[in-house]
Amino acid sequence: MLVFVLGLAALLGVGGRAPAAADVIPSEGRWPLTGSVRLIEGYDPPAQRWLAGHRGVDLAVHRGQAVLAAAAGRVSYAGRLAGRGVVVVDHGAVRTTYEPVEPLAAVGDEVEAGNVIGRIGSGGHCNGRCLHWGLKRGDTYLDPLLLVGAGRSVLRLLAADQRPVAERRAAKRTAEAQVAEQEVSTFAAVPSGRGGFSRPVSGGITSPFGMRFHPVLHVWKLHDGTDFGAGCGTPIRAPAPGRVASRSYNAGYGNRLMVDHEIDGRRVRTGYNHATRYVVSPGTEVRRGQLLGYVGSTGYSTGCHLHLMLWVGGRLATPMTMF
Ligand SMILES: [Zn+2]
Ligand SMILES: [Zn+2]
Repeated sequence: MLVFVLGLAALLGVGGRAPAAADVIPSEGRWPLTGSVRLIEGYDPPAQRWLAGHRGVDLAVHRGQAVLAAAAGRVSYAGRLAGRGVVVVDHGAVRTTYEPVEPLAAVGDEVEAGNVIGRIGSGGHCNGRCLHWGLKRGDTYLDPLLLVGAGRSVLRLLAADQRPVAERRAAKRTAEAQVAEQEVSTFAAVPSGRGGFSRPVSGGITSPFGMRFHPVLHVWKLHDGTDFGAGCGTPIRAPAPGRVASRSYNAGYGNRLMVDHEIDGRRVRTGYNHATRYVVSPGTEVRRGQLLGYVGSTGYSTGCHLHLMLWVGGRLATPMTMF
C-alpha cells in the first residue's frame, strides 16, 4: 500500500504556483538504459522537502554501462557533485538527472532521446550498482517513471487546467498498454517460475515486499506486499487457479479481493488492493489468467498500481516467492 497521500499534499504546497502551459511532461520519454530495465527502488517522495525520501528511481546496471538521455534536450550539468558524477539534461519544462555517471556529454550539448550521455560510475547510494534517475520541475521532484508511461502519481500534482491534457495522455497510454498486452497473446501464456504463479498485471515491480522508510511517520515500516506499476484500468488476472474468498473495501487498501489457492498441498491466499473494481464475487472459481478486476488507486494510494499480498498457511509472505 502506498501511504504517501500526505506527502503529495505537502508537495503540492511546496509547488505553490499554478504550472505554466509549458509545464507538461515530455511525452516522448524513454528509459535511460538499453535492453530490459529492472527497477530496484521506486520513487518515494518525502512528506516535507527536508525529510529523507527517495527522490527518483534506481535502475539495475553494471559498472560502465551506457546511460542515455531519456528525452531530447540540452545538457545543463556534467560534472562531479559530492563525490559522484552527475549529468542533468534540461528539457524545457522539466529536467532529468542521472547519477553516478561519468559524463561523455558536455554542458550545452543538444541531445536526442537515446543519445549516450555518459557511463555508470561510482559513488552515491547507487555506487556502480544502479542508476539513480530523477525528474524535476523547478525545485519539485517528480516520478521519472512518468516519462515512460509507468508512473501516474504526478498527474495529481498538475493544476486543474492541466489535468485534462494529462488524463488524455494517461488514457492513451493505458489503451496502448492494453493493445500491447493483447498482442502478446494472453497473460496466462507467460511462462511462470518455481511457485507456478504467472504475473497478475503486465507492469513491472515498483516497490518490493520488505522494510521501507515511511516518508510521513519517518520510521521504518513493513511494506506488506509487492507493488506492480500499471496504468489505471490495466486488467488484473489470477496468477493461479483458485476460489474467490472475499471482496471488500478498506480505507487503506481500497477495493480488496482475496483469492484462495492450493499450491503443492499448501493453503495459499493472494490479496489484491487499490483496484477500481473487481469483476468476480466470493465463491467464484477462477482459472489462471482469468480477469479479476482492473488496476486503480482506491484507498491510500498515490497513483494506479496493484499492491499484491500473499499468505502461506495463514502467514504473511513475500509474493515473489510464488513466481
Ligand atoms: Zn504496496
Ligand atoms: Zn536512488
